[in-house]
Amino acid sequence: MSWAIPLTDVVVSEEDVEAVLDCLRSGWLTSGPRTQAFEAALSDHLGGGHAVAVSSGTAALHLACRAIGLGPGDEAIVPAVTFVATAHAVRYCGAEPILCDVVGDGDLNLDVEDVARRIGPRTRAVLAVHFCGYAAEVEALRTLCDERGIALIEDAAQAIDARTTSGRPAGTVGHVGCFSFFSKKQLCVGEGGLVLSADEELAARCRSLRSHAMTSGTWDRHRGYADTYDIVDIGFNYRIDEGRAALGISRLARLEADIEARRDRVRDYRRRLASVDGVALCWSEEEVERSSHFAFPVLLPDRRARDRFREALAEHGIQTTVYEALTRFSEFAAAAPPGEVTRAEEMADRHVALPLWAQMTGGQLDQVVRAVLDAAPAATSG
Ligand SMILES: *Cc1c(COP(=O)(O)O)cnc(C)c1O
Repeated sequence: MSWAIPLTDVVVSEEDVEAVLDCLRSGWLTSGPRTQAFEAALSDHLGGGHAVAVSSGTAALHLACRAIGLGPGDEAIVPAVTFVATAHAVRYCGAEPILCDVVGDGDLNLDVEDVARRIGPRTRAVLAVHFCGYAAEVEALRTLCDERGIALIEDAAQAIDARTTSGRPAGTVGHVGCFSFFSKKQLCVGEGGLVLSADEELAARCRSLRSHAMTSGTWDRHRGYADTYDIVDIGFNYRIDEGRAALGISRLARLEADIEARRDRVRDYRRRLASVDGVALCWSEEEVERSSHFAFPVLLPDRRARDRFREALAEHGIQTTVYEALTRFSEFAAAAPPGEVTRAEEMADRHVALPLWAQMTGGQLDQVVRAVLDAAPAATSG
């Protein structure tokens, strides 16, 4: 299937290609100076903090969970609307994800009051997801977590450069923030991720666990800084390689402009879809200004209408996507009994994400809008 308008697109610049070629020509391919430079650039970009670049956003979440000490017998609260990696990371540690509800009514982020209700004696952490690039209420969650003596891990995989209500970058309010550089994400290198923490000790634990908990790395030994090592924990190979780090450094320079372009597209979409019957917008205008726009979801009246709407758009050659509530997956059905996270299920059932990327043209957006106008009546006619 070749779409007239894909869900998203990746544009690689000549500078990006040169950066990777430079790296290949250098002959050093595993974690080394470019990874260190990528970490320094990301730390700078995100307002400080200790940055540990890793092989994926999932690896970042796993390391964050391990670093805060999550283990068997523990529970961690995870929103029922997210990509499955958030819950998988908890499971990797032998802990139980406890699904919580979202705010609802066009806000697909986790609900602080519902999180508070679910904190029990075994709760060790809350994993807050900034869904579609819109910041969750992490200031309130941080206060709650500090009061209860538990950790706040931010899953900012979809939200690099989003701003929270207090104007801070998403991923810097909790004890640790996790980012993804997967192909569809705003800052993409193919596969990659980042753990960010103001806590030096937490970051050091992630850095160690990233590479088998070895006390020295290949790059250190290459430079003669060490000639032996000890293993001090059960670590992983979650290193990022130099080609991806080089690509990340190159692309980071354009991130702000790309996000501003995404926001412009979203403003356009919202202006033109504001009064379409049967299609509702998510979040508020104020939240749009703070979002970093990973995706542009709209709401249909119900799941059936949503599915028909998607089919109608597909007939126009327009690709869309949806996130199922985790309760819909066999593996996670037991994580919340039926009727426990009704707003999450309702929002997941009703939403659909329309095409969005930084270089999307006005003409392409127009094509999507016209298809939506055409498909919308089909969604509401019984
Ligand atoms: C993409 C994503 C992840 C995982 O990131 P990968 O780099 O693909 O491993 C985790 N959480 C959320 C919410 C995501 O969207």
